Amino acid sequence: MIIIMEEQAESSEIKAVQDRIKSEGFPYHVIRGDEQIIISIIGDTRLIKDVPFERYESVSHVVHTQNSYKLTSRDFKADDSIVNVSGLKIGGNEPFITMAGPCSIESQEQIMECARIAKEGGAKVLRGGAFKPRTSPYAFQGLGEEGLIYIRKAADHYGLKVITEVMDEANLPLVARYTDILQIGARNMQNFKLLQAVGKTGMPVALKRGIAGTIDEWLNAAEYIVAEGNFNIIFVERGIRTYETATRNTFDLSAVPVIQKLSHFPIIVDPSHGVGEWDYVAPMALAGVASGASGMIVEIHPEPQKAWSDGQQSLNEKRYLNMMAQVDVLSDTMKTIKPIQNDI
Ligand code: PEP
Ligand code: MN
Repeated sequence: MIIIMEEQAESSEIKAVQDRIKSEGFPYHVIRGDEQIIISIIGDTRLIKDVPFERYESVSHVVHTQNSYKLTSRDFKADDSIVNVSGLKIGGNEPFITMAGPCSIESQEQIMECARIAKEGGAKVLRGGAFKPRTSPYAFQGLGEEGLIYIRKAADHYGLKVITEVMDEANLPLVARYTDILQIGARNMQNFKLLQAVGKTGMPVALKRGIAGTIDEWLNAAEYIVAEGNFNIIFVERGIRTYETATRNTFDLSAVPVIQKLSHFPIIVDPSHGVGEWDYVAPMALAGVASGASGMIVEIHPEPQKAWSDGQQSLNEKRYLNMMAQVDVLSDTMKTIKPIQNDI
C-alpha cells in the first residue's frame, strides 16, 4: 500500500499517519518526491485494506498494490513518466530518441569523430564508456576522468547530451559532474548500494537489464532508485544470457511491452549488446522502433576493426547513417500507428 500526502502536509499530519501504520504493526518507508510525500507500507497490506487512511488530513490518495516494486509500478502512476534529460524528453509520446557512440572513449579525436557521426544520423545523446566493466582484468578498463573530459567536450561541441556508465559508488560524484544520464551496466543491475547512491543524486538513470535478470528483478532494481525519491529512470533492454550462442545475448524485445504494461517509466533498447554482431544490429534496431520503445542506444565507431572494445558490434559511419535513415521512416510510421494501438 502507498499513501500519498500533499507536499505541504504538516509534520503533525504526517506523524498521525505514521503512528497509525505503526499501531497496525507495519514497517514503512517515507519518500519525499518533488510534489508529494509518499509513504510506502511494507508487508501484506491486504490485512489493513480497510483502515481509512484516505480520511487523514493532507492524504491525497491511497494506492493498493501488493507488488514488491511499488513506485515503479503502473498501480502507482497510470500515465507514462517522461524523463527530462536537461531539456530532452524521453518516454510517452515523445519522439524516438537515439543515443549513439563508441563502447569506450579512446581519445579526444575518436570521441569527437563519433559525436560528429552520431549527430549527423540524428542522435540526441552521445554514449561512451570511461569506466568499463570488462570480463578480463587485463582488457582495457577505460580512460577514467580523462575520458569523461573528452566526451563532455565532444557532446557540447555538437549539442548532444552525454550518457556514460558509473561502475561504483566511489566514482559517482566524478561521473555525475560530466554526464547527463548515469548508466548502470548490466553487471550492476543488482548492486543495491550503487542503485541507492544514484537514486540520491536525482539525476536521470539508464538502468540496464542484468545479464540474467528477470523482469521482476529489474523492476525491483528500479524500485531501489525510486525509493530514494528519484523518478528519472529509463529501462534499457540489452539482451539476456540464454542457451543460444549464435548471438552474444538473446535480445528480448518482449521486454518492451511487458515493462510498458507493468511500469510507467520509459524503456529503450540496446540492439548492439543485444546481438553482439554489427550485421544484426540494424534489423533489431528497427524491430526496437516497431516494438514501441522510447528510444535506443547503439554503438558506433569510425573504424570498428580498430576499436578498443566491442568493435565487432559497432557500426561504421555508413552503416549507422543507413540504419538511421530507416529508423526515421519507421519512427514516423509508428507515430501514426501508436494512437491506433492505444485506442483498442
Ligand atoms: C556498454 O554499454 O558498453 C556495456 C558494457 O553494456 P552492458 O552493461 O549492457 O553489458
Ligand atoms: Mn559495449
